[in-house]
Amino acid sequence: MIHSLESKVKLSNGVEMPWLGLGVYKAEQGEEVITAVKTALEVGYRSIDTASFYQNEEGVGQAIKESGVLREELFITTKVWNDEQGYDNTLKAFERSLRKLDLDYVDLYLIHWPVVEKYKETWRAFEALYRDGRVRAIGVSNFHIHHLEDLMNMSEVNPMVNQVEFHPYLVQTKLLAFCQEHDIQLEAWRPLTKGDIFDHPVVQALAEKYEKSPAQILLRWNLEHRIVTIPKSVTRSRIIENSQIFDFSLRTEDVAKLDALNENRRYGPEPDEIDF
Ligand code: NAD
Repeated sequence: MIHSLESKVKLSNGVEMPWLGLGVYKAEQGEEVITAVKTALEVGYRSIDTASFYQNEEGVGQAIKESGVLREELFITTKVWNDEQGYDNTLKAFERSLRKLDLDYVDLYLIHWPVVEKYKETWRAFEALYRDGRVRAIGVSNFHIHHLEDLMNMSEVNPMVNQVEFHPYLVQTKLLAFCQEHDIQLEAWRPLTKGDIFDHPVVQALAEKYEKSPAQILLRWNLEHRIVTIPKSVTRSRIIENSQIFDFSLRTEDVAKLDALNENRRYGPEPDEIDF
């Protein structure tokens, strides 16, 4: 059982990644993101998920500094955006992100979306950054199985993480099995469906049964599947609530009830159809 906020999963290269992190998509640069990250670090989160696209890396960096938490205790993820891809551009984008975060290295660098004509070149740059010790782990985001296979056919270093949309309306069973088979850690974005699924009778019934909130049920469901999860909130009480998922466990039949809600429904874009 994954039993505490300090619990971590060992990635394929031995680097340890916390099971829970704070997502900061749409947390506004400045006071909002700074307060959210500082609050999370204060209550015990050690992992933060940002991206150059979110335009709040500076705030994340400032919060880290002001928190006083030791750098080596933290796990910081950022991502290369679509128009930053390609070999040289990625190397430049990485330096930009580091400068904004005011860090010497990041723990995990991700290709944000599979830009088909670019992601292989981008991956070469990722491998160079990894070899040079500028990033502790490298991975991808929004990659389908066919993208992963394509990448792994040319890669020297396999991706260690795949961060994808994952919640009970979009249970990506085949992708999860593929990733487990190849030692790629799956990480869920939009784990709470931004609250859309909270009122579903199955979620409500489980919340009542376990005396937990719908958000806590959904996050614990990620952990039962051994999926890293990064709920977003800028509200102190919710940041705390989302971290209180380590003192209970869902029974197998209840995990199955949530699995059965799958509708292959995406809130975000279909990775094969991106035009941005
Ligand atoms: P989410 O499912 O985490 O929903 C966040 C929203 O849910 C909040 O804005 C708030 O309105 C609500 N919420 C949070 N905690 C709550 C609680 N305890 N009770 C009630 N409501 C609550 O959605 P998300 O922000 O899209 O995803 C999480 C993170 O994943 C992002 O912040 C980002 O870091 C990452 N992400 C990555 C990608 C990608 O393409 N790689 C895409 C989207 C998001």
